[in-house]
Amino acid sequence: MGLEEYQAKRDFGSTPEPKGAPAETGQSRFVVQEHHARNLHYDFRLELDGVLKSWAVPKGPPEEPNIRRLGVQVEDHPIEYVDFHGVIPEGYGAGTVEIWDSGTFELVFRDEKKLVFVLSGQRLTGHYSLVKTAQPKNWILLKSKEGAAK
Ligand code: MN
Repeated sequence: MGLEEYQAKRDFGSTPEPKGAPAETGQSRFVVQEHHARNLHYDFRLELDGVLKSWAVPKGPPEEPNIRRLGVQVEDHPIEYVDFHGVIPEGYGAGTVEIWDSGTFELVFRDEKKLVFVLSGQRLTGHYSLVKTAQPKNWILLKSKEGAAK
């Protein structure tokens, strides 16, 4: 783990994205970035382990319970990415990035196959789960009914 993959994919002489370094901030922030790349998707990121754990969600995070959305895990991003928005030029991830939502979360449960957390954002609030599927990078993001802990 770390940012090797993130940094190897990018040319920091041309992209405005932060190079970054792992950093423990003591905070638990999340961000959803609407990314108009070759295919529009929503990057869902949670501040964990000194980086932003990241999933690309093609249809966007669900705002109502019991809607399952595919989230493809992508490389860890630096903490500084939490407020990044702008235009990524020609190259990896080229396109416009806008912040769709941001806020904090409380981690309820975590193991290798599942994360449960409570989001406090502008658009997204309440209990959510990310559950790993049999496909290595594919997870399911869903909003749980209130009070459903796991
Ligand atoms: Mn993206």
